[in-house]
Amino acid sequence: MTTELALVAIAFFVFGLLLGSFGNVVIWRFPRGESLSSPGSRCPACDAPVRWYDNIPVVSWLLLRARCRSCGEPIATRYPAVELLSGLLWLAAGLTFGLGGQAVIAGFFFWTLLILTFIDLDTMRLPNPIVGALALLGFAGATVSQVTSVDWVPLTGGDASPLLGAVFGALLGAGISGGIAALYAGVRGRSGFGMGDVKLLGAMGFFLGPYVLLSLFIGSLFGAVVGIVTAARSENGLATKIPFGPFLALGGILAALVGPEIVRMYLALVTG
Ligand SMILES: [Zn+2]
Repeated sequence: MTTELALVAIAFFVFGLLLGSFGNVVIWRFPRGESLSSPGSRCPACDAPVRWYDNIPVVSWLLLRARCRSCGEPIATRYPAVELLSGLLWLAAGLTFGLGGQAVIAGFFFWTLLILTFIDLDTMRLPNPIVGALALLGFAGATVSQVTSVDWVPLTGGDASPLLGAVFGALLGAGISGGIAALYAGVRGRSGFGMGDVKLLGAMGFFLGPYVLLSLFIGSLFGAVVGIVTAARSENGLATKIPFGPFLALGGILAALVGPEIVRMYLALVTG
């Protein structure tokens, strides 16, 4: 890697950190219906405004030793964790998708999935406006790819027609998961798979094309393991509810980053 490219990679990481900081604002305020732009950040414990020099992603948290400068109350580890995850996801997007336009789209895809993950953990909901914005970004990216022949969206590539591949992925994601949800509701009499999850898979389909199925598979695998462990530890047993959005987000990120490689390795294994 040349020095120039290394600098661009660092820029992706830093931009991801900064977006992660804004992501914390979205995760906290959006479910509460609060404005995302004003007022500035305040300490949840003492309401003191956070100074700009105390709001530098990850660094300020370390310098403040995880405590508010005004009241000394602990600052949750989640804030720097979201910032760092966002930075690393943007770096991974940059290195995987060539530090250009496609990498920027992948970065925003991952960042939105990160935000949805934490909102789902907090509220057991995937807000329609955020999932809708994600779908719009995917559709717009596929349209630009179609018109300009740049092959950006779907991220997994290899589509004769990007727009057709993206729309097919969206229909596949929402259709299959919608079918599973209906079946599950019919058999169990209650839904374990929410409409929010169905819509999210639809939105992810624009970015992943047919690889949206791989994201559902990976998400279900991790979800099942965590679900069984959680149920075994909980008094409510199998009635324990866990949000599925975080697992779908993980599946979507992995499918985008290494989906084609996973399928290639699998096919090589199967066909010997
Ligand atoms: Zn405070």
